[in-house]
Order: sequence, then structure tokens, then C-alpha cells
Amino acid sequence: MDKKEQLQSLRSEINEINKKILYLLNERASIALEVAKCKAQLGISGFDPVREAEMLSELFEENEGPFSNEELREIFKNIFQKTLLLMDRQDRQEKLLSKKLGEKVSFTVNGVEISSGGGRMLVVAGPCAVENREQLEEIASFLHERGLKFMRGGAFKPRTSPYDFQGLGLEGLKIFHEVAHKYELNVVSEITDPRLVEEALPYVDIWQIGARNMYNYALLQEVGRQTKPVILKRNFAATWEELILASEYILQAGNDKIILCERGVRTSEHWVRNTLDLSSVPILHQETPWPIMVDISHAAGRRDILSPLAKASQAVGADLLMVEVHNHPERARSDSQQQLNLEEFGNMLELLEVGK
Ligand code: PEP
Ligand code: MN
Repeated sequence: MDKKEQLQSLRSEINEINKKILYLLNERASIALEVAKCKAQLGISGFDPVREAEMLSELFEENEGPFSNEELREIFKNIFQKTLLLMDRQDRQEKLLSKKLGEKVSFTVNGVEISSGGGRMLVVAGPCAVENREQLEEIASFLHERGLKFMRGGAFKPRTSPYDFQGLGLEGLKIFHEVAHKYELNVVSEITDPRLVEEALPYVDIWQIGARNMYNYALLQEVGRQTKPVILKRNFAATWEELILASEYILQAGNDKIILCERGVRTSEHWVRNTLDLSSVPILHQETPWPIMVDISHAAGRRDILSPLAKASQAVGADLLMVEVHNHPERARSDSQQQLNLEEFGNMLELLEVGK
């Protein structure tokens, strides 16, 4: 055999061995998953450092080289670690309640249907914060005229700085509810504390959990005990998995009317407030049965790029769009630079071909 042929034959031997290793790795993984199930039933934790050390020393005893024990340790540590991740994934998937609900979810809010993957995008618009009755009247009548059914507005504002306007609280929410319902609009408003849920309940049609509170599990459980739908916003540093797991707190508590909201994540970019991560929409549609919302205003933090972002959200299949709209954005008490005036918002609706 000449050298070339020898090389060829050694390579095919290696290819065969690769396949055997692959087969054995997957066989090992399947058995490990069985082990994980047994352990779960016995209430034992998945990670067992003593067992790992025993397996390694047994391998070292058998080791005849050419790999050194240290090199083997590295290879097997990797296998152990990946197996633990696999066990973890299996465990989570079994627990995820939302997966078991089936494909797509839809529910109604005062007769208006919200559904996942329904094809038409509902628009939720309104001011960043509830400021006064005149402001609400002017915006609400415009939304009503355009055929919209949902109005947003914060009465409890979780501001980054404690010195900024904190919202009008329950009094503001009562006025908001009165004005919105007068114009046949459902109230979408944020709640920041589980202790507020009971008193806010009569005045809210859809709860909003803000990005800062995505990890506030007591709050998630409290809205989970209610029957009104919940918009859960993704925290600016949260992975999709963390968002999904946070939604499970709501579901576990009994509420299966959940809307997941992408509102941008923090990156090194500072020309926008956050970077709008539109891949969330198809990913969350694949991974959950919930309607998916995109909040373009808190993502961009500036009004000049909102229309293309709205169009893009529609293109990736968002079920709902959130936009901040103010009758006088320049006078707004919060998020002034990102709110659209009524005319700009009207143009956006025409571009999207939604509303009347
Ligand atoms: C809001 O929608 O009013 C808000 C504060 O947004 P976020 O929680 O996404 O920052
Ligand atoms: Mn805002």
C-alpha cells in the first residue's frame, strides 16, 4: 500500500470510529436521561460530584494511553457537563405547562379576540403615563375614531430614577378606566406591586408586567391568581427561556391568558434606547402557545424609526403592537422623545393598514 492509500484507509478507520463514538455518546446520553428520571422520582439532585470523581478514577485505572489522565479528564468533564445540561432540559420540558396547552391560544377581552398566529395585528396605543383627563380624552377619542380597541397608559410608573414622575397611581387609573370605557377601549395598564392588584382590579382590563418586574415572582403569582389577561414584558437582560419560565409562574397560579412582549434588549448600541430583537416573535411562537406582542416605543426610545419597526413587527408575525402616543409629546411627563403625536400615529396606522 502506498502512503496515499494508507492515509485513505486510516481516515476511513477514523470515520468509522467517529460513528461508533457518536452512537455510544448518544446511547450514554439516553441512559443518563433515564437515570435523571429515576433520580427525580427519588427526589435526588441531578449533579453528583462524588459519582463523577468515581467514574473518572475508574477510567484512569483503565487508561493505557496515548491520552494522559489529564487529557481524559478534560474530555470526560465535557461529556459530563453536556449530559447535565441535557438532563436539565428534559426536566424543564416536562415541567413546562405552556407546552402542554397545545398549539395556539386565543381569548377575548370584552368581546375582542386576541389570538396567537391569527394573522392580523392588534394595536395597543396610548400615552406612556396617565397625566390628566383632557390628555386621555383627546387620545382616546382618536383611537376610537380609528377603530382601535385597546389603550395603554401607566398609572404606576416604575421609573429608573426615583426623582422622576412616578405616575398618578390609583386615582389616575380610575380616570383612565372611565375615559377609555367611554370610548369602548380596553384598559392596558402596568402594575408594579402584588399589594396593588386587588384595588386596581376593577379598573384594568389587561395587566401589564413591565420589563423591570419580569423577575418579580410574587407579582407574577398574584396576577396569575386573577382571570384578566397579562402582558408579560421581557426584561432587557432576559433570555427567551427566562421569559418563558417567568410566564410559567402566571400559568402555574391558574391564569392561562398570557401575552409575551418583546420590548428590546440592552446592547452596546446607544443610538437607540434598546435593541429591538425581532427574532423573539418567531421563536416565541415556536416555543409557546401565547400571542406575541412587540413594543416598538420602549425598544427604540426615539420616534423617527417607529414606522419601519412597526412594519417589521407585522412582517415577522406579531399578534399585537404597542406604541406610545400622546396628544402633545413635547409636553409629556415621561418618555417625551419616543411618543408619536396623533397625526404621526394616524400615518403609521395607514402604513400598517390596520384600524379604520
Ligand atoms: C411601559 O410600557 O410603560 C414601560 C415602562 O415599559 P418597559 O417595562 O418595557 O420598560
Ligand atoms: Mn414609556
